[in-house]
Amino acid sequence: MNTIKKCKAYKIKDSRGDETLEVEMSSNGHTVWASVPAGKSTGSREAVALPVDEAVWNVNRVISPELIGKKADVFEVDDLLVSLDGTENKSNLGANAILGVSLATLKLEAKIANQPLWKHIQSLGHPVSKSVGFPRLFVNVLNGGAHAKFRLPFQEYMFVLGNGMNVAGPINQLQTLFEQLKKKLEAEGKEIKMGDEGGFSFESDDIEEPFNILSELHDKLAIDVAGGEFFENGEYNVCGQKYSLEKLSNLYELLVKKYPLISIEDPFADNDFEAFAFVTKKMRDYGVISQKEDVLVVGDDLTTTNPQMIAKAVDGKLINAVLIKPNQIGTISETLKAIKMTHEAGLKTIISHRSGETMDSFIADLAMGVGAFGLKAGTMFQSERKEKYDRLLEIEQEVNSEK
Ligand code: PEP
Ligand code: MG
Repeated sequence: MNTIKKCKAYKIKDSRGDETLEVEMSSNGHTVWASVPAGKSTGSREAVALPVDEAVWNVNRVISPELIGKKADVFEVDDLLVSLDGTENKSNLGANAILGVSLATLKLEAKIANQPLWKHIQSLGHPVSKSVGFPRLFVNVLNGGAHAKFRLPFQEYMFVLGNGMNVAGPINQLQTLFEQLKKKLEAEGKEIKMGDEGGFSFESDDIEEPFNILSELHDKLAIDVAGGEFFENGEYNVCGQKYSLEKLSNLYELLVKKYPLISIEDPFADNDFEAFAFVTKKMRDYGVISQKEDVLVVGDDLTTTNPQMIAKAVDGKLINAVLIKPNQIGTISETLKAIKMTHEAGLKTIISHRSGETMDSFIADLAMGVGAFGLKAGTMFQSERKEKYDRLLEIEQEVNSEK
């Protein structure tokens, strides 16, 4: 029988050395493990993670007794978890407790079905993108903002690698680019530190400097501004200078025209809807004039993987792509719903890690299983992030062996 026999949570450490939880779940003959990442630059509408001791207690004392003997069916289990919690933002049982159990259930279901996880996700009736292929890699190589104590103007500077055809090539290219970047920064005499996501960080308040450095090495760049981090009294304070909505939009336009910048995440604060709509239109107009593909305006803290917020963003044309982080919403079912809505509205998805990561490589399977446009997983130089690339390489072999 495919029923849950055991569901137990433990405390483990994440990539920052902070505590998080891992859930072990078994049926007859199968055992799986799932762990939960944590963000630092979190959106104001994210589901609420509880202190890890409380989350572990909730899994072991509240959730587990309800689950034993139930079918390992992620949609049914998620419904049960949401009703046991009873709040909008999962603050009763904790989004971290709930996601650990939800993800473990999905993995157990895949094990029982004897399918690779990405294939199982495809088979759940959520083949949510027509773009069959591998995700492009959005790799944060220069870390600033909340991930490196504001040493650089914006939070993340990324190389975008690949074209959906394979992953081994872009992963090798990343290795080469990262070495070239290190040499370049050293040659310029920079004092380099490592940021939370395994990229470099250095001190600079020159907005164009990171773009000059990166565009000499690669022809597709992305940024995560994490606009909410420097929003003060209706204005944006970038490196000590005040920017209005218009002034910041003009800066983005200049960067897009001058550098190979193809994607801007959270250009403004979570509640600055008007500003998002303004810049998305600007990028669309620029796409028409330049006859290039639209620059991606990606919602992360804006949308928080929340189907209601995604609907609002689609209706208001606030963005043209959505970042997906399962722990922002707390269940796998809602994550899949968010992805499905995004793709059905013709927007792109980028599946993302958190700045505090674990060795769980689930997001690689998720990106492949839903046909996401991109995967944002940090550099390979931190083992918690390298796991995701290793899993992508395995998936590529699984795909190729089916041909
Ligand atoms: C992000 O903002 O996209 C990110 C990955 O950071 P965090 O996990 O700290 O929210
Ligand atoms: Mg972000």
